[in-house]
Amino acid sequence: MVNVNRTPIIGGNWKMHHTRALARELLSSLRAALEEFNQIDVVICPPAPWLGDAIDTLESSSILVGVQNVHSASEGAFTGEQSAAMLVGSVDYVIVGHSERRLMFGETDRQVNEKLRSVIDAGLEPILAIGESQDERESGETENVLRRQLFTGFDSIKMLPTGMVIAYEPVWAIGTGMSASPEMVQMAAVTVRNLVAERFDEITANSIRIQYGGSVNSTNASEFAEQPDIDGALVGGASLNADDFSAICEIFAHGR
Ligand code: PEP
Repeated sequence: MVNVNRTPIIGGNWKMHHTRALARELLSSLRAALEEFNQIDVVICPPAPWLGDAIDTLESSSILVGVQNVHSASEGAFTGEQSAAMLVGSVDYVIVGHSERRLMFGETDRQVNEKLRSVIDAGLEPILAIGESQDERESGETENVLRRQLFTGFDSIKMLPTGMVIAYEPVWAIGTGMSASPEMVQMAAVTVRNLVAERFDEITANSIRIQYGGSVNSTNASEFAEQPDIDGALVGGASLNADDFSAICEIFAHGR
């Protein structure tokens, strides 16, 4: 479903990396490189302790700030957690359901749904991460896994925010240096759009933005940017290097 009206979006997921000094240096370099980069949306998701630095350093630039996780409640006795409601006015995007949260912290599809609803209710922009494991792909289960993750993830949600972001991230491609083939990702993106059309409608399916995530770098990014249903990338490792990350942004800005 080619739709030139979908604005590509690149996310930088720093995970739990960088000292404060390195984080500040990276933020300044990103600002210098992408300050007036308006062709596409660029979102930086630093570790929570460097959120204030990111907000300050990127203020009034075109670079947006996001977080890597939230709790589903709006407030309460949840030591160490942060809510979407608390982030309103400070950040724009929230990653929900990253595979590292699902696999290492036992997040279920049901919890992902609760978090997604809390983000939408707070008026923030979600980046919903989904994707199959190597075993699931090899046993032909990819579509069923995506269906389960999306349909449970969307439970009780009547409408998706316009241009909502879904990150298709096959688990076996994350942080492994082994990216999926562009054709495989394009096929998965079409599957995701069809599932969204089935659950909501064609207009919604055509408007959602689908990122690919999994070992994207400045060398392989153009192959993904050329695919009609891939509208950006969620970048882990390569987002820790300002030159690489900026190059990926440039490629997606000129990829269509
Ligand atoms: C990610 O963290 O979502 C990711 C895709 O990581 P990497 O680019 O390092 O594979």
